Amino acid sequence: MTTLVSSSHQAIELEDRYGAHNYHPLPVVLTRGEGVFLWDVEGKRYFDFLSAYSAVNQGHCHPRIIQVLIDQARELTLTSRAFYNDKLGPAEKYVCETFGYQKALFMNSGAEANETAIKLARKWGYTKKQIPENQAVIVAARRNFHGRTTTIISASTDPSARAGFGPFMPGFEIVEYDSIVALEQALSNPNVCALWLEPIQGEAGVYVPAEGYLKAAEQLCRKHNVLLMMDEIQTGIGRTGKMLACNHENVRPDILILGKALSGGVLPVSVVLADDEIMLLIQPGEHGSTFGGNPLAAAVCMAALEVVKDERLAENAARLGVVFRERMAGLMHKTSLIQAVRGKGLLNAIVINDDPQSDTAWKLCLRFAENGLLAKPTHGNIVRLAPPLIITSEQLHEGCDIIEKSVLEM
Ligand code: PLP
Repeated sequence: MTTLVSSSHQAIELEDRYGAHNYHPLPVVLTRGEGVFLWDVEGKRYFDFLSAYSAVNQGHCHPRIIQVLIDQARELTLTSRAFYNDKLGPAEKYVCETFGYQKALFMNSGAEANETAIKLARKWGYTKKQIPENQAVIVAARRNFHGRTTTIISASTDPSARAGFGPFMPGFEIVEYDSIVALEQALSNPNVCALWLEPIQGEAGVYVPAEGYLKAAEQLCRKHNVLLMMDEIQTGIGRTGKMLACNHENVRPDILILGKALSGGVLPVSVVLADDEIMLLIQPGEHGSTFGGNPLAAAVCMAALEVVKDERLAENAARLGVVFRERMAGLMHKTSLIQAVRGKGLLNAIVINDDPQSDTAWKLCLRFAENGLLAKPTHGNIVRLAPPLIITSEQLHEGCDIIEKSVLEM
C-alpha cells in the first residue's frame, strides 16, 4: 500500500526510516514549486535560493518546458539507442549550434557526462597524442567537484568524498586551482591528455579564479597539446551571466560538459560536446547508456534551452548578480558575521565569519527557512545563494531582505 504524506514530520520520519542517509537535508518538506517559489506540505511559501544546485535556472515547473514534457511523454519516452528516434537528431543539432561544436553525446547525470569526457580524453591521448598504453594522465584541480562515481572521486581532494571508498583509479594529477605556474609545470608532462576544470568551483564554495586564469589554461593546453575539458554542469546555461562561464574569457574548451539546467530541472539530461576529431574516436559499442539521448530528454532539453535564450536569462543573471552582491556588500557593513561575498552572475556565496567546523552556517540556513528562503551551506562556513534566473529585481530584493533580516537576527 502506498502512504499519503500529511505532514512534514511524517515525511521526514519516512525518509529517515526507509531511505539511505547519504544526505543531510534541512528539515523542510516540499510539495510544490512555481517559478522562484517552493511550498512545503503545510502550505508555507519559500524563495528558492538553491535552485536544485543550479538545475532549475528556468524556474520551477516552467510552463513551456512542462508542456513539451507532457506532449512528448504521450508520444514516446524511450527507445534505447538500438534504434533512431525523431527527437535526438534535432536536439544534437540544437546543442551543437548553440554551443558551437560539431558533435554531441547525450547522457543523463552530470557524473556520467564527466565519465564520458574522461573516456574521450584518454582515447584521444592514446590515438592522437601517442601516449603509451595505460599511461594517460588527466590533470584536475584541488577542491574540484565533478560527481560521485568511483573514477571521479579518484580525482577528488575532499576527504568526505573519498574516505572508505578506495582503491582509487590511477591517472589523475592534482594541481592548485587558480595557479598558472602549477599548470605550466603539470601540463609539460608528455603523458597528460587533458586538463579538467570547473570555470568557477561551485560545490567547493563558489571560488572564482582570477581573471585570465581560464585563458592562460587554454593557452597552456594548446602549447602542450593537451585537451581542455571544462565542467560547466553548475556554471553553464546562463548561471554566471553568460551562456557559459568560459565565455567571460572567450575560452573554447575542446570538451564541454553540461548537465543540470539542460533540462530546466525536469529530468536528468547531460551532454558532452566536442569536434569530430575527438568525438568520432568513440566507436559503436564503446560507450553508451540506456536512457542517454531518449526522446523525452531530447525534447525537454531543446525547450529548456529555448527558454534560456528567449527569456534572456543569462542577461538577467548578469544584471541581478551585480545587485545581489551590492546588497550583500551593504549587509557586510552592518554586521561582522559575514566575512566575504563572492560570485559571478547569480552564482554567489557568502562566507560566514566563523570556524569552518562550526554550525553557524547551518543555523543561518535554518533561520533563512523560518523567514521564508531556502539555501544550504556548502563546505562548512560557506552559504551558496543561487536563485532561479527568472527572478525579478523585486523578488531578488525581497530575498535579500530575508537574508539581511536573518543575518541580523543571528
Ligand atoms: N560537476 C559539477 C561542477 C557539479 O556541480 C555537479 C553536481 O553538483 C556534478 C558535476 C555532478 O552532477 P550529477 O549530480 O548530476 O551527477
